[in-house]
Amino acid sequence: MPRADLLFHSAAQVVTCAGASPRRGDALGDIGVILDGAVAVSDGHIVAVGPSAELRAAYPAHEAIDATGRVLCPGFVDCHTHLIFAGARAAEWEQKLRGVPYLDILAAGGGILSTVRATRAATALHLLADGRARLDAMLGLGTTTVEIKTGYGLSLESELSHLAVIAALAQSHACTLLPTLLAAHAVPPEFAGDANGYVQMVTQALIPAAAAWYATSSIAAQHGALFCDVFCETGAFDVAQSRAVLAAGRSQGMTPKLHVDQFHTLGGAALALEMGAISADHLDVTPADERAQLAASNTVAVLLPAVNFHMGATQYADAQAWIAAGGAVALATDFNPGSAPCFSLPFVMALACRHYGMTPAQALNACTINAAAALGIAGRVGSLDVGKEADLLMLDLADYRLLPYWLGINPVAMVVKHGRIVA
Ligand SMILES: [Zn+2]
Repeated sequence: MPRADLLFHSAAQVVTCAGASPRRGDALGDIGVILDGAVAVSDGHIVAVGPSAELRAAYPAHEAIDATGRVLCPGFVDCHTHLIFAGARAAEWEQKLRGVPYLDILAAGGGILSTVRATRAATALHLLADGRARLDAMLGLGTTTVEIKTGYGLSLESELSHLAVIAALAQSHACTLLPTLLAAHAVPPEFAGDANGYVQMVTQALIPAAAAWYATSSIAAQHGALFCDVFCETGAFDVAQSRAVLAAGRSQGMTPKLHVDQFHTLGGAALALEMGAISADHLDVTPADERAQLAASNTVAVLLPAVNFHMGATQYADAQAWIAAGGAVALATDFNPGSAPCFSLPFVMALACRHYGMTPAQALNACTINAAAALGIAGRVGSLDVGKEADLLMLDLADYRLLPYWLGINPVAMVVKHGRIVA
């Protein structure tokens, strides 16, 4: 008789989000609900998903957990965060709320470069401690996999040291962490007015050094390629500069990702297509022709509604158009101290339902299987499928639609990571 280390049974709903590839179009709303369901886990992996009566008979588990009145679903995947930084920007935010124009805040030394200053000044121990606390908070909210970008160092030494902080966190934290080199996040003060000069340093020195570091790092053994990201936007990097950075990364074995079309249409979505990016993120102002092309590709469209919400924007990405065009739509927090101080994917789902008109099922798929696809790991996590890593949540809710419905509570009653109860 097969054995299971853990058997969750009698769940009001088991929501599977099943599959190993992103859901598109009508399939985005297909969530796979099993009433009175059960999930069996052995050796860190899912060994069975189905009706409680069947699994209870087949798997006399080492430990049985009664999930009566509750929902079981996959652990959430946050596929876009800037988690490594020092210094929150609450004072600046308060100034904004009082009506101080953003350009005045920038002129006074605020904005992204204030985070760069604070992060450069922070020790690795400080960044590790802050990073661990933030990941603990995310894990408690149901996030079991997190992509983390560098991008507040903006020098060869600091970007490499921030990659090392991510690798150290990956060694010591329950969450699966995937690192992204975002050296082209902003032009650092030493290169003020000379974005091309900075791009040259990034492509010729920093990217080769990061690739060499990654090849021997502990984290490379657990994952595939390092991601290489760029902020393609007015005031950051134009299309030619973005292309140069991503091409340099690709030549070193890195996988391209992009921040595009957040405020201005520069042709970033077309660049994502050209580079074969694994994801293109933001996409608030993408023109219809570029949207149609990107939606038909393998590039995942990552939408970040917490940014628009926090910035008080009235304009949001046209998620319905992305879904209608057949795009692989994912959602993420964009956790960062400036535009999205948001830890919670349930909150992001709540925003997506209200501002994108997504259904709870679409939002949940976008935070699980589709977000895993944005990181190239949809074959490993992101759904409750036999053979996948056992990353699952027990929600203190009897219906998954309550997850984005209730506002301001944490509905996560238990977090299981790789078959182990971690929160
Ligand atoms: Zn971002």
